[in-house]
Amino acid sequence: MKSPLSLAALAIAAALSACATPTTAAQPAAKAPAGPKAMVAAANPLAVEAGLKVLRAGGTAVDAAVAVQATLGLVEPQSSGLGGGSFMTYYDAKTKQVTAYNGRETAPMGATPKLFYGDDGKPLNRMTAILSGRSTGVPGAIAMLHLAQSQHGKLAWKDLFGEAERLADGGFPVPGRMAAAAASKAGQAATPDAIAYFTKPDGTKVQAGEIMKNPAYAATVRKIAAEGPKALLEGEIAQAIVDKVHEGALPGTLSLADLKAYRPKSEAGLCRPYRIYIVCVPGAPSGGPAVLEGLGILGHTPIDKHRNDVEGWYLFSQASRLMYADRDRYIGDPDFVSVPVEGLLDPAYVAERAKLIGPAPAASVAPGKPKGAGPRAPDATQEVHGTTHLVIVDQWGNVVSMTTTVESIFGSGRMVHGFFLNNQLTDFSFTPEERDGAPAANAVAPGKRPRSSMAPAIVLDKNHRFVAAVGSPGGPSILAYNLKALVGMLDWKLPVQDAIALPNMIAGGSFYAAEVDKFSPELRAGLEAKGVKLTAGFGAEGSGLHGIEMTPQGLRGGADPRREGVAKAP
Ligand code: GLU
Repeated sequence: MKSPLSLAALAIAAALSACATPTTAAQPAAKAPAGPKAMVAAANPLAVEAGLKVLRAGGTAVDAAVAVQATLGLVEPQSSGLGGGSFMTYYDAKTKQVTAYNGRETAPMGATPKLFYGDDGKPLNRMTAILSGRSTGVPGAIAMLHLAQSQHGKLAWKDLFGEAERLADGGFPVPGRMAAAAASKAGQAATPDAIAYFTKPDGTKVQAGEIMKNPAYAATVRKIAAEGPKALLEGEIAQAIVDKVHEGALPGTLSLADLKAYRPKSEAGLCRPYRIYIVCVPGAPSGGPAVLEGLGILGHTPIDKHRNDVEGWYLFSQASRLMYADRDRYIGDPDFVSVPVEGLLDPAYVAERAKLIGPAPAASVAPGKPKGAGPRAPDATQEVHGTTHLVIVDQWGNVVSMTTTVESIFGSGRMVHGFFLNNQLTDFSFTPEERDGAPAANAVAPGKRPRSSMAPAIVLDKNHRFVAAVGSPGGPSILAYNLKALVGMLDWKLPVQDAIALPNMIAGGSFYAAEVDKFSPELRAGLEAKGVKLTAGFGAEGSGLHGIEMTPQGLRGGADPRREGVAKAP
């Protein structure tokens, strides 16, 4: 991928396109605001507290992110953990630069394009693939955090795991969502490892509010604290991961060499102007480019003048359809396939895409032909929901926006040393090519990282000052959730909490999945009259948006009311 535009160039572009509309949430005060200067927003209050402790001890946002992740892996294991991967967008207050860290899992060197085909020569059933040893990629979240912490941390790495260790050893109250996931009918909750972990001596499953311990997890975080990511990627735990993925009828090929070879990556954040702002995300294979394209398309519409009304949601739905069509066709790991990110975000291309939005929905939306795009087959990737998002701002103004995942709930449902293994490789396209022979951008290849929808965003003003950060889990719906929250804040000028609470709508192809009951009858009727019929489904309620924004009074946070998280200042 080409390096993104420099922030300076973007600032000029943003200034040129700036309209005079003031923002309620975005204007940093001339003198230091009296309100909160630091904050943590994440999906679980215990994890938020772990982050706040680090901030109170003089740690940076990245230091706190390590503690939050270590704790989430214990109290929200259905979403993320030591066995998973992550994308993190980081804003450095001193240099005003944005860096994107890529801790995405890699496929083992033994993986083949038909990794998820059965002996019958057909793609495996999705749940069979998830639960198999083939679904696990090399976990990258801890290695990524270690890289970021070595560059932007102040405290010692070894001191960032105390809270996770204390809770794992001493016990923690089981959160409602964790208990519900453990009791759910999901195949991952019915594996021998998950049953053993969540079942009490009396044979019943753990209940919300009961105290649970995980001494194996405590031992693992102690080892990670002492040795860094090597503790996971080499030695005893690495061997346990390898053994675990080789169990069962469809063993994976993950090897000690694959684990040892893992390297997290970092690059300049992918930043583009949006109205008077600059929005930064990670590049491919994350969902970042798609969110920027969605915003780019909306930038050619008057959505900013249609706050939460029929026309506003209509424009949102049609831009989403175009965004998904392109992302599904073109995004993959740029180390393996050419991904036309520059073409997709080219202002002329985006303007052409925006022209496809007419007064009534087009019968169908096809991917466009951005510059640099090779022939690509329709995509056969299917994602499910098991991920989390956190945002942290420290006392110096540094910002972490991080989406982190084990892919589906409890990943592959296989556990070693107190944590679940990811099933991230099922984020690859199950089929490598179509009948016409065109390759899928997101086909499996050895060492390749699967496409992700995760798109942790950071918004700056034209002087590169922090405006807001937001992101969400939700599988493919992440793109729509993030786009909604960004439109809510940047176009509709809503406080981050209200932008997060806006109803979710996921429009792609010919469907308009939504939290139907959260749209007023007037909005529903108005949209239907325009040809947009909202239907329940697609896990539309599955967002877990967390965000923080700067206001003249200091920081203000938002936590998705659909989950159990909070946003708190130290
Ligand atoms: N595995 C998905 C991705 O990386 C995320 C799944 C989820 O959000 O639950 O895009």
